[in-house]
Amino acid sequence: MKIAVLRETVPGEARVAATPETVKKFVALGATVAVEAGAGDGASIADAAFAEAGASVGDRAAVLADAGIVLGVQGPVPEGLPRGAMVAAGLNPFGERARVDAYAAAGVEALAMEFMPRITRAQSMDILSSQSNLSGYKAVLDAAAEYGRAFPMMMTAAGTVSAARVFVMGVGVAGLQAIATARRLGAQVSATDVRAATKEQILSLGAKPIFVEAVKGIEGEGTGGYATEMSDEYKAAQAELVSSHIAKQDIVITTALIPGRPAPRLISDAQVASMRPGSVIVDLAVEQGGNVEGAVAGEVVVRHGVKIVGHRNVPSRLAADASALFARNLFNFLSAFWDKEAGRPVLDEEIGDAIRLTKDGQVVNPRLLGAA
Ligand code: NAD
Repeated sequence: MKIAVLRETVPGEARVAATPETVKKFVALGATVAVEAGAGDGASIADAAFAEAGASVGDRAAVLADAGIVLGVQGPVPEGLPRGAMVAAGLNPFGERARVDAYAAAGVEALAMEFMPRITRAQSMDILSSQSNLSGYKAVLDAAAEYGRAFPMMMTAAGTVSAARVFVMGVGVAGLQAIATARRLGAQVSATDVRAATKEQILSLGAKPIFVEAVKGIEGEGTGGYATEMSDEYKAAQAELVSSHIAKQDIVITTALIPGRPAPRLISDAQVASMRPGSVIVDLAVEQGGNVEGAVAGEVVVRHGVKIVGHRNVPSRLAADASALFARNLFNFLSAFWDKEAGRPVLDEEIGDAIRLTKDGQVVNPRLLGAA
């Protein structure tokens, strides 16, 4: 079985879907690996390092020729993919629905790694977790870099510098890492989420939970541990609580996502205006429509003296580590299903049906068919 690793084509994408470590492991499984020249450049992995690990290095056509599996960080251009091949990558199925149809037309079996079920045995295959973790960390560093003050309290001969107040909105994988990182930098940290289960997690990281208590009957948690869309009553109560809290914050990190829907709006322009000049907001949901009014994808904008940071593709800003983890997620996935006799992965129903978007020329994924 030949595994092709493509160079990413989306502008600003610096990650790569394999590393010399995973190439070696695939070779040990009995696969051959071909890597497109320059694929590792953005992650500081030279072609020679891939070659040393046992891969062949060539142009796109050579790498794709006879490949049975194609690996990518983001979805590869459908043209030229070998008919019948498995394509495993982050395929952004809701955002790039037309490309899913193109994969079907190309006759490939497209596997969306972001649809990996959140079950214990798939944790090591979960690209959303591995990449969100790095995003949460980087968001805090980006905030610190934009902030014209220090994070920790400092007592100096010239006087005392007070600790920054950091508020994290959305306490999933990215939010938890943001809390931990801001705490390590010495900030005073608070956090909120719609899922009540996060309260304990916030406390255990030494941060203060900020929660709507008055509205009854709202759990906030839907299938698979994800957030659901909240009632209007809840949204109003949350907005009021956040308004009073946010005005006292120096840094706000927003990470709130709802799968398959635009990101919820958490901060209005008036709330931005209530913060003191020089404050910083980092909107990690900016590419899904943004949690913050006025945030612009790919830009750092200033509104009412507050900087709103909207970097795109935050994991790519830590391309070496992000690639290492992404590549391991792909390896863990493929190796878990590797059938030695067949010399290729054979997926089971639970995971296969969840992540498979196309098969035999058709779009087959229920989440896409249901949304159509
Ligand atoms: P996510 O990226 O989908 O969303 C980020 C956070 O935003 C979530 O905590 C969500 O509840 C929150 N949010 C949504 N709307 C909000 C609103 N209006 N206001 C405030 N917060 C809001 O989440 P994620 O990081 O992917 O994690 C989702 C869940 O999956 C968590 O329960 C996590 O622990 C769980 N998880 C399980 C596994 C596993 O078992 N394999 C792996 C990773 C994550």
